[in-house]
Amino acid sequence: MSTIHRALDAFRELYGREPQGVWSAPGRANLIGEHTDYNDGFVLPFALPHRTSVAATRRTDGRILVSTVGDDGRPQQAEPFAVADLRPGSPSGWAGYPAGVAWVLRDIGVADISAGAELVIAGNVPAGAGLSSSAALECAIALALLGLAGHEIGAGYAERAQVAEWSHQAENRFVGVPSGVLDQTASMCCTEANVLFLDVRSGAAEQVPFDAAAEGLEVLIIDTRVNHALGDSEYGDRRRGCERAAELLGVPALRDVSTEDLPGALATLPSELGPLVRHAVTENARVLDAVDLLRASKLAEVGPLLTLSHQSLRDDYRVSCVELDVAVDAALAAGALGARMMGGGFGGSAIALVSEELRPEVERQVTAAFVGRSFTQPRLFTAIPSAGAGRDQ
Ligand code: ADP
Ligand code: MG
Repeated sequence: MSTIHRALDAFRELYGREPQGVWSAPGRANLIGEHTDYNDGFVLPFALPHRTSVAATRRTDGRILVSTVGDDGRPQQAEPFAVADLRPGSPSGWAGYPAGVAWVLRDIGVADISAGAELVIAGNVPAGAGLSSSAALECAIALALLGLAGHEIGAGYAERAQVAEWSHQAENRFVGVPSGVLDQTASMCCTEANVLFLDVRSGAAEQVPFDAAAEGLEVLIIDTRVNHALGDSEYGDRRRGCERAAELLGVPALRDVSTEDLPGALATLPSELGPLVRHAVTENARVLDAVDLLRASKLAEVGPLLTLSHQSLRDDYRVSCVELDVAVDAALAAGALGARMMGGGFGGSAIALVSEELRPEVERQVTAAFVGRSFTQPRLFTAIPSAGAGRDQ
């Protein structure tokens, strides 16, 4: 059953009437450009077919009642909270994401959300798999709260990027996860059949056509089932390392270090910072190369860039883990054109570019590589670039 229908059914069960509307937002994959967003660099995400839907109705008493439909199909309700009382960090847990969005929207004052709302969530973006279930949730809630307040979000890019920024603020400042703006921008701004080429510094964005099937290719997502925890100190360490390196190099962000500048930069930096800079600089260059190849309809040639990205993330940035390495190595050994870990690292998902004919064999070999180790079986699916967030009904 679609997430829309699951949200609708649960809403009817809980409140005995129809909601005023249903809004949804997708999870995302990132073709290439990892750990570049907070270095003011380039990313190339696309929206997944997996979505989070929110059925919603306005209240009058200033409280927000929020429920989420679990895997068993049953709604689980969080402790109700008053919009006026929201403070960062409370509520915590999963309700912190919707509460954080309400907190940001309340303080920005773009729409009057003070009446409160009944929100019923149903999603099928795997949580903690590096596919941005958190951004899908935030963006769907943002659209629902704005929509209930009469502020419907249209197709315009700038307005959507603004909603992404508010959702990002919710995650950073209310939930307390120091992530970059990639996830929310992808969920809000990606469009069907395209990857989004985003320059995080300028906000300039271009929808680049990505039709793998036309070239006999598929994008395989491998969820290692190792729960990444972005809040972990490792992510903050890398981020601070990049900021420190930029400071020592006298540039606003690592985005400002060119490939030509790299040898000189590496010669002056402390040894622990050099590899971080090398990753950021080479990864930005790989995104630009990938975009050139996509524009020239040379999709298969993006494969080796993915593999180089993985090596850089594994060896220089040191954010991979054994399960991600096993998944990538097995995919490549089975004939994938390229593969890499995706997302913050230390778990989550990998992405592989494979030919249609070899896809079953790649799936078989990746699955087999996880057998006989103390690993949970991975979840594999193929993904095509899907629509961004919007109103469903
Ligand atoms: P990712 O974004 O990679 O999936 P995060 O750790 O950033 O991983 O976000 C996962 C968290 O988001 C979950 O632990 C949960 O708190 C929240 N979340 C995501 N989807 C839902 C949902 N459908 N219902 C309730 N909470 C959700
Ligand atoms: Mg997340």
